[in-house]
Amino acid sequence: MQTVTLTDGVEMPILGFGVYQIPPERTEQAVTDALAAGYRSLDTAAAYQNEEAVGRAIRRSGIPREELFVTTKLWIQDAPAGENAKRAFGVSLDKLGLDHVDLYLIHQPYGDVYSEWRALEDLHREGRARAVGVSNFYSDRLVDLIDNNEVPPAVNQIETHPFFQRTADQELMRELGVRIESWGPFAEGRNDLFTHPVLSGIAGQHGRSVAQVVLRWLVQREVVVIPKSVRADRMRENIDVFDFALTDDEMASIAALDTGRSQFFDHRDPVMVGRLGKVRIPD
Ligand code: NAP
Repeated sequence: MQTVTLTDGVEMPILGFGVYQIPPERTEQAVTDALAAGYRSLDTAAAYQNEEAVGRAIRRSGIPREELFVTTKLWIQDAPAGENAKRAFGVSLDKLGLDHVDLYLIHQPYGDVYSEWRALEDLHREGRARAVGVSNFYSDRLVDLIDNNEVPPAVNQIETHPFFQRTADQELMRELGVRIESWGPFAEGRNDLFTHPVLSGIAGQHGRSVAQVVLRWLVQREVVVIPKSVRADRMRENIDVFDFALTDDEMASIAALDTGRSQFFDHRDPVMVGRLGKVRIPD
């Protein structure tokens, strides 16, 4: 598996497996299938409420811990946010049954993220989170976080797919030494992604699926990606993107599909800030 090197020398697989919206009772089997298909990077979150099942699948696999790259995420905390972030991290570790994670992300750019970030810096210094980062931060918030703290985020996990490509954000992140990680690489199928004529045409040229073309396009852009599926056949399909390459013309045709807008919601929309910012996740 191709890897990327994060700022602090940590190696991260460029393609991993996401478990958002997989119900807890289906997650252990899904992760077991993903590990059997060859995935070694797993992306969960306290908010997904399936960390325990991810942990069970890891133990069941017998794969040595050092061969796995496990990401989880901190949900928005009440005050005192720093203290509560450390407590929430402990809860996540217990649920996963691990003594460290490879990447710990602030899930949303809401609430007292500065106190939370300082807690993450401590967890990083203690080696309990090998790398720390953020998610859903637009570039203005990212720059401000970096300018006012010691440890820069290793990763920013943001919505990135053919209809919302984030090329300017990626360029800025490259300058800042922050790795872009795509969530929703298929836009969860929105905008008829899987039957899109341009993507289908390119897929036909290579004898591949649209999903494979999209993942290959992200990998060629050096975007880390974590597709989700509950189907073992699709898991195998989605990881099988390292033996073909898109041409410059094909990359350019996909570049032309960018709408510059989210297929879900804008994290800067005041209505969403208010709504999501009030959500709390029980232990
Ligand atoms: P996604 O990966 O874009 O799309 C998943 C959907 O595509 C599912 O409906 C899946 O159906 C289908 N699918 C997967 N492979 C396919 C294939 N080869 N052919 C046809 N359909 C296929 O969406 P996502 O789950 O939202 O994003 C991926 C991961 O990113 C998440 O699991 C999570 O880890 C992370 N994420 C993070 C955030 C955040 O705020 N940080 C937000 C969203 C997601 P089946 O399962 O039925 O195959």
